[in-house]
Amino acid sequence: MSDETTTGTKASPGGGEQRVVIVGAGMAGVQTAVALREQGWTGEIVLLGEETHQPYDRPPLSKAVLLGKADGSTLDVDFAGLGIGLRLGVRVTGLRADKRLVETGAGPVPYDILVIATGAEPIPLPGTEGVPGVHLLRTLDDAERLRPVLARQREIVVVGAGWIGAEFATAAREAGCAVTVVEAADRPLAGALPAEVAAPMTAWYEDCGARLVTGARVTSVDENGLLLADGTRLRAGAVVVGIGARPATDWLAGSDVELAGDRSVAADDRLRTSVPDVY
Ligand SMILES: Cc1cc2nc3c(=O)[nH]c(=O)nc-3n(C[C@H](O)[C@H](O)[C@H](O)COP(=O)(O)OP(=O)(O)OC[C@H]3O[C@@H](n4cnc5c(N)ncnc54)[C@H](O)[C@@H]3O)c2cc1C
Repeated sequence: MSDETTTGTKASPGGGEQRVVIVGAGMAGVQTAVALREQGWTGEIVLLGEETHQPYDRPPLSKAVLLGKADGSTLDVDFAGLGIGLRLGVRVTGLRADKRLVETGAGPVPYDILVIATGAEPIPLPGTEGVPGVHLLRTLDDAERLRPVLARQREIVVVGAGWIGAEFATAAREAGCAVTVVEAADRPLAGALPAEVAAPMTAWYEDCGARLVTGARVTSVDENGLLLADGTRLRAGAVVVGIGARPATDWLAGSDVELAGDRSVAADDRLRTSVPDVY
């Protein structure tokens, strides 16, 4: 935030107190709203989130929530008490910086200061959208859909030996499923960690009883399983795709907010974007 906005209020051009609108009610959006109040912001705070659940933390989704050991991981924040206007089930579809408003399915929402906190969305495996039995794991709804899959103890193929793949494979093994993990690179976490750091992960898959197949490219997936580029067919009752995430910034297309090559929002060392009053 700029100096003028870090403490207290700033008069809006129309007179009264300024309104901060935060898009995205994940950890970043919620903590921004709470921190604004903690640091003395007295103006209006509106927090818009696409999901209909009370804001929650994602790490337990691939652990306790998936295994049915916890129902959820709702963040312990008293939004009403803090005077934070939480609006759930609202997808923001566009930014009109010239008019200082964001567009939503429920109509335009004006802001004086805008915070972009829409996080990331999982990358689907090309050609698998809509194929029955293919899952992503990002939201509470995804975790709830996957719980009964684990409970049925089916043969599961996980595509991607990254963090999500590793965590899902562990949970699925704990639930008694047969698990095969296919990874296009020659080792787990190839895109995230240097080889010597990631090396212990290979043995870890073996220890937890999951079969790890590296150097394996998936060419097609259907409801019975998947086909690898070398002709191997893997049978699967369910396929879980964990091949990475990308910034959820589609809604900024056509706005003046500059995006970097990976579609993330370009910002300076004070989190200012290329558009005034948009952070
Ligand atoms: C299964 C899983 C397990 C994880 N485990 C760990 C872990 O063990 N340790 C760790 O450090 N990290 C873990 N992570 C990563 C961690 O959860 C993320 O770093 C964190 O969620 C990022 O928070 P965020 O608020 O920036 O973004 P997000 O969590 O992506 O939240 C963004 C929110 O914005 C909403 N949104 C997006 N677009 C729009 C729109 N156009 N309009 C309105 N709302 C929108 C989304 O619905 C979402 O609720 C895990 C992630 C997952 C998915």
